[in-house]
This record gives sequence, C-alpha cells and structure tokens, in this order.
Amino acid sequence: MNHSKVAIIGAGPAGISCAVQLKRYGIEPVLFEKKQIGGLLRNANLVENYLGFENGISGKDLVEKFKTNLKISDITPILSEVKKISFTEGIFRLETTNGLFTSKILVIASGTKPRELNTFCHLKHSCHPERSKGSVQLINTTTVQKWTDSSAMPQNDNKKIFYEIADLPKKDYSGKKFAIIGAGDTAFDYAINLVNNYKVSEVVILNRSDKAKCLPLLEKRAEETGKIKHIKNIQVDLISQPVIASDQRERGNLSIVKNSQSIRLLRRCTPRNDDSIIMDTDYIIVAIGREENRDFLNENLTKNSSDLQNQELLYFIGDVANGSYRQSSIATGDGIKAAMKINSKINTIYL
Ligand SMILES: Cc1cc2nc3c(=O)[nH]c(=O)nc-3n(C[C@H](O)[C@H](O)[C@H](O)COP(=O)(O)OP(=O)(O)OC[C@H]3O[C@@H](n4cnc5c(N)ncnc54)[C@H](O)[C@@H]3O)c2cc1C
Repeated sequence: MNHSKVAIIGAGPAGISCAVQLKRYGIEPVLFEKKQIGGLLRNANLVENYLGFENGISGKDLVEKFKTNLKISDITPILSEVKKISFTEGIFRLETTNGLFTSKILVIASGTKPRELNTFCHLKHSCHPERSKGSVQLINTTTVQKWTDSSAMPQNDNKKIFYEIADLPKKDYSGKKFAIIGAGDTAFDYAINLVNNYKVSEVVILNRSDKAKCLPLLEKRAEETGKIKHIKNIQVDLISQPVIASDQRERGNLSIVKNSQSIRLLRRCTPRNDDSIIMDTDYIIVAIGREENRDFLNENLTKNSSDLQNQELLYFIGDVANGSYRQSSIATGDGIKAAMKINSKINTIYL
C-alpha cells in the first residue's frame, strides 16, 4: 500500500500550486489526475487576468508553464482517478484506478463538472405535450441519454456533443458548424476560440434568455468575428441523431431533412411563439453551467467534512470550493494557502 503525508486530488491550477508549494517546504505530495494536467484551464481562449502576462496567454500555454513548474519541482502526477475516499483511524483511504493509497492529510482540488444537458433537454419540459409526442418519434432517446451523460459518451471521433472544447479530437474543423448551448462567459469564450483557433466556419450560440450572461468584452469580440451568431430566447428541447433517408417524414411543423448528416436541434415552442424550428449542426458544445465535483466523497466523510477541515486534515481548494468565484488565480492562491497551513500542521503532527 502507498502512504504519503499529503494526497491531492486534481492537477488543475489549485492542485498544482498546492503541490509545488508543498515541495518548497520539503513535503512530498501525491498528486492524482484522472484526465489531463491543467484541468479546466486547458479550455480558456485567452487568459487576461492572470498577472504577469500583460497581453494575455492562452489556457493551453499557461498550462504548459504549470507543467514546467511541476517538472522543476520534480513532481510527477499519478494519472488515475480517485473513485472513493474514506477516513478511518486518522487516515484517509483513497481507492483509485491505480490501487489503494493512504494519506494523513487530504487536499481536494477536483474542480467542477459540467451541468448535463438532460437536466433541461427533456421531453417533459416541453410546453406542447401533443407536439412533443410527435417529436418523440424523431429522436432516439437512448442515444440522447447516452450522449448527454458525459461519462458514457463514446470516446471516439464519432462523438458530436462535447462539454469542453479541449476534448475535441484533433482534426480539421474548417467548414464545420457548431452550436453552443448556453450564453455565459464559457460559451462565448468557446465560440471565439472555435472561430479563431479551430477555423470553424460558423458558431451559433443558443441563449434561452434575452441577454448574454458574459463579460461585455467577450460579447463584443464574438460579434467582431462576423462568424458567431447569438440567438436569444431560444431553448433547445430535443436533439436528434443524424437522420437517414428512410426516416424522412413530415409531422406538423417538424420535418426531417433527407439524408442529413448533421445533428438536429429542435426548438422548443414557447407560449407566444409555438412554431418549432429545426436547426442542423455538425457539433454541439454544451455550456450550461458547472457544479462542484465531489462525487467520490462518501456519506460519512461528507458528514465529518467540517470537523476534518477544522482539524486542518482536509482541505477543499479552487473551483470545488469557490462557488461562482471560479478563476485560476483564485485557485492557485488557494493552493498556496493550503500548502502553508499543511506545512504548519505537519510540523505539529510529526513533532
Ligand atoms: C472556457 C473557459 C475560460 C476560462 N477563462 C479563464 C480566465 O480567463 N481566467 C481565469 O482566471 N480563469 C478562467 N477559467 C476558469 C479556470 O479554468 C478555473 O477557475 C480553474 O481551472 C480552476 O482550477 P481548479 O484546479 O480549481 O479546478 P480544475 O481546473 O477544474 O481542475 C480540477 C482537476 O481535478 C481533476 N479531477 C477531478 N476529479 C478527480 C478524481 N476523482 N480523481 C483525479 N482527478 C480528478 C480534473 O480532471 C481536473 O483536471 C476559464 C474556464 C473556462 C472553461
């Protein structure tokens, strides 16, 4: 069994900065990462509020710099997922995809997970049940369920729906059309990134309200590209698979285009405007918000979490702990602060 004084879950900005600062105290942390080093920051188009980069820096480039920090500090993250954690007899037990690890102190820097599409993209939310009944036949619900559950999404080039653009397979996207569901900072940042760096020909931002919920400068930049359409007061109700000729049919206002190879978005009808529209797109990015990622905590640990935090044995840092204040510099600051507290704690425990 592997034992360390400190284990850190997540190698995003928070976990990395905590690990690097711990090393400066001579403490060897074990840093787990289930996906890719750098976390959510890999998606950022242009980070302009991380001091030291007066012209901004892309999330990818900033992550490369963080990786160099890890290397110089001689920290090699363990690329495995922490599945479950328990705390017994003064020790944290971490069940990971690489076996069992234990630690005296645990830092949770697991960030956020995307809010999934099926929370609102569901037939029962439609305002016209009779129309929805008709719509059901246009859509393979099993496939929708499968696609909207990010963990079950097929890991291959045929994927069409993504929650992060950093997950897009490396290929040529020029001439492709993307629809982004959501209209916050993330949605606009993704749209600008897709046009500028992925050479996408058209991006449509689908906003269910009448205003963008992003920084005004992002909305302005998106407009200036001339390739990003922002459609307001539209709610995606259904998503269907590419349709083949044999599925061709007409039903009320809904029609299926023959031989379409794209994904189909069906507009939800509103009480004032009840005509559904159909929109075809090559890819969909879902950016409808994020939630704290604490899935691996068991009930017992969740119950004792405050006690353990008061004893300075358990720490939550970065986006997982900061509600809507989700920024890299806050996350890295949290990491440094936690490491400083851990250093004091370790000096007490191991005196
Ligand atoms: C499009 C976009 C643009 C952004 N632009 C900016 C910007 O301009 N400026 C700015 O400051 N911030 C920006 N951000 C926000 C910034 O990316 C986050 O605030 C930051 O990444 C949070 O760091 P974190 O370490 O707390 O969490 P994350 O970066 O989410 O990292 C958490 C890590 O934990 C890993 N993990 C989770 N669960 C487990 C597990 N069970 N086992 C092992 N590993 C696990 C995840 O895979 C992930 O790598 C942007 C974000 C997005 C999406």
